Amino acid sequence: MQTHEIRERFLRHFESNDHTRVPSASLILDDPNLLFVNAGMVQFKPYFLGEVPAPYSRATSVQKCVRTGDIDEVGKTTRHNTFFQMAGNFSFGDYFKEGAIKQAWDLVTKPQSEGGYGFDPDRIWTTVYEHDPESAELWQKVAGLPAERIQYRDAKDNYWDMGVAGPGGPCSEIYYDRGPQYGQEGGPVVDEDRYLEIWNLVFMQDMRGDGSPKDGYPVLGELPSKNIDTGLGVERVAFLLQGVDNVYETDLVRPVIAAAEEFSGRTYGQNHADDVRFRVIADHARSGVMLIGDGVTPGNEARGYVLRRLLRRIVRSVRLLGVHEPVLPEFAAVVRDAMSPSYPEIERDFERISDVMRMEEDTFLATLSTGSKIFDMAAERAKQSGATVLGGDQAFQLHDTYGFPIDLTLEMAAEQGLEVDEEGFRSLMEEQRQRAKADAATRKSGHGDLSEYRAVLEQHGETEFLGYSDLEAGCR
Ligand code: ATP
Ligand code: MG
Ligand code: MG
Ligand code: MG
Repeated sequence: MQTHEIRERFLRHFESNDHTRVPSASLILDDPNLLFVNAGMVQFKPYFLGEVPAPYSRATSVQKCVRTGDIDEVGKTTRHNTFFQMAGNFSFGDYFKEGAIKQAWDLVTKPQSEGGYGFDPDRIWTTVYEHDPESAELWQKVAGLPAERIQYRDAKDNYWDMGVAGPGGPCSEIYYDRGPQYGQEGGPVVDEDRYLEIWNLVFMQDMRGDGSPKDGYPVLGELPSKNIDTGLGVERVAFLLQGVDNVYETDLVRPVIAAAEEFSGRTYGQNHADDVRFRVIADHARSGVMLIGDGVTPGNEARGYVLRRLLRRIVRSVRLLGVHEPVLPEFAAVVRDAMSPSYPEIERDFERISDVMRMEEDTFLATLSTGSKIFDMAAERAKQSGATVLGGDQAFQLHDTYGFPIDLTLEMAAEQGLEVDEEGFRSLMEEQRQRAKADAATRKSGHGDLSEYRAVLEQHGETEFLGYSDLEAGCR
């Protein structure tokens, strides 16, 4: 089943259950806690917080999401995209646990010939919050799930809140058992491939104060009006229903892998290190297009910096596959063809999107060609001297003179089996900052886009990638 069809089936299922279909919000919403929209509920927050009355009591949407916190997982796990589509159904003081469980179960298990996803009910597992026996009972009553496939989890895993005083509540996650060839029997285990989390149901029932039950604080009381917020991973359902091995091989992502195969002359599925690169390329190309489509441009501020990192990671991965010519506009066109049936704005705005990618690639290629030589020499010297760690001074030089962000150096070092003396690097950065403060006028300008990186550092401090760990609005 194509991803587009998976989206549509979700929306139609909930429309037929009296939900209003609401379009995806932009990836960029004015929310001080969020770099990017990372869950379907974000655009409905004012309703959940009671700031604005909801214009409908039931809604359904497929929301564009970007989770920068998952960037390091991409290509390594089977299930983490940086950009993905979260389908959701929402109840604002209307149905609650029973209705949410019933409607989710129906869609998941209804035969495909009748408009559902047609998952084998015997392969479905769920988790519930340890203090929420009601949900466990409902799973048995409504879905007929046997007790052993309903697992209790603590607040860390199965309690949701917004990180501030306000609504919170238990959640219940739905998993699909991919079978014994993918791991141990016995139910969902974090970071395991066998049980794939596809859907998270959040039951907003509590009023929390300044502390969360995740940190042992009790809730203050019951919400006067209870709400439902759910999120289903469209790409994850596609992964299962398309019989492929991971989210990167689904119909909307895989075409970029194919393009990268063509460019590189290498074949996907032959070698693990290359496969991770192929998957990173495909994932990040899609995220890049979608982010630029929503108005982000590469740059120094937090969002632009994330985009820059994604695009540069593609360029580097492509080079590691042996391709040295520019590729981003080509990949962008492949993404456009895959995504524009669901997101026609990508087609309309394509020229601009492609230009942004081309310019960023040109800039980076210039930086990279110089910096990589220096890096290789430093790595070679370190290895020849029997060292396993690249000096902080070298990481610093790469940063200061060649515009290499530390994460790039870390990644390249790891590929060579080397560590980096990050502490040394950071103390040199700090010294530099002090010097710069003391005498801004003597600061020399460096090579490539050093100034941009320096600006980011000044803005965000030495842990320049803190910007990634945006608060996750969804349950974890
Ligand atoms: P995981 O534990 O697998 O990282 P999560 O618990 O962080 O997922 P939620 O916050 O519960 O995810 O989000 C709701 C749903 O969105 C998940 O059940 C999953 O299907 C989907 N989802 C979450 N993160 C990603 C991602 N990085 N790529 C693709 N789908 C995702
Ligand atoms: Mg979850
Ligand atoms: Mg999870
Ligand atoms: Mg997660």
